[in-house]
Amino acid sequence: MVLIISVYFILLIPMLYLTGWLYWFVKHKKPSKNMPRIISFHKISDSPELGGTFNTTKQFENFIKFLRKNKYESVNIYKMLTKPDKKNVLIFFDDAYESIYSHAFPIMKKYGYTGVLCPVVNYIGKNNTWDRGINRFKHMNEEQIKEMSENGFEIISHSMNHRDLRKLKKTELLKEINESKKQLEKIIGKRVEYFIYPFGLYNDNIKGKVMKAGYRGAFSSHNERNDIIDFFAIGRNTMYIIDTNFDLKVILDREPLFLFGHEDQKGRIINWFSRFSIVIKI
Ligand SMILES: [Zn+2]
Repeated sequence: MVLIISVYFILLIPMLYLTGWLYWFVKHKKPSKNMPRIISFHKISDSPELGGTFNTTKQFENFIKFLRKNKYESVNIYKMLTKPDKKNVLIFFDDAYESIYSHAFPIMKKYGYTGVLCPVVNYIGKNNTWDRGINRFKHMNEEQIKEMSENGFEIISHSMNHRDLRKLKKTELLKEINESKKQLEKIIGKRVEYFIYPFGLYNDNIKGKVMKAGYRGAFSSHNERNDIIDFFAIGRNTMYIIDTNFDLKVILDREPLFLFGHEDQKGRIINWFSRFSIVIKI
């Protein structure tokens, strides 16, 4: 049984990769110069974590050093969406883990960068439950979020509970979108203007509710198209443990195109597998 499952996965991953990669070239045009450059991180951990959605401290510092050496500047979301420069970058910290406060924040300050924090309101100061791995990771508490906000980090809503929003009833959905905005605004004493869909999952109904709630834009995991920007489904590129500065360079340069397609497709596959955490959640 184990053997059958192993063979299935060994064959499935390259097949998913190849079909997705070919499909990417059929569907996507050459990325527009104005497409927001967004790199995203989850946790910083020096011990292995299942799923690969972490980076070591040294690896993270190398990425940030690369940005500094190549004269990239972090900007706020509004600037990135309205008048981006090709050396502008947004650095996202998905789920606002405590390790970001303890490991990434000092490095960001050292090199003069700010970023975007995406806390999940009901998990503030608590242990994670949806991202199944070897260890349980803690999320930042209110004081840590506030301190990062006061140091120029932008705080955006990542819902109340990090659930698949497509599966919720209308009242639950509205709470995830509207209440999270209100509660975060109370914590940081500033307006929360952007939303990020849990697991990058959304549909037109969810998009509509996010617009109605007064958000100026929303983020997903990937761009549906690379030639025009959908301000309520803006894609990102997540940096994984397998990534090097070369991957970062390709993501930021958006060329050569076949390698950029590879980066995009790699992210889609890892994201697809990470969604199993919804399925296996008991
Ligand atoms: Zn998340």
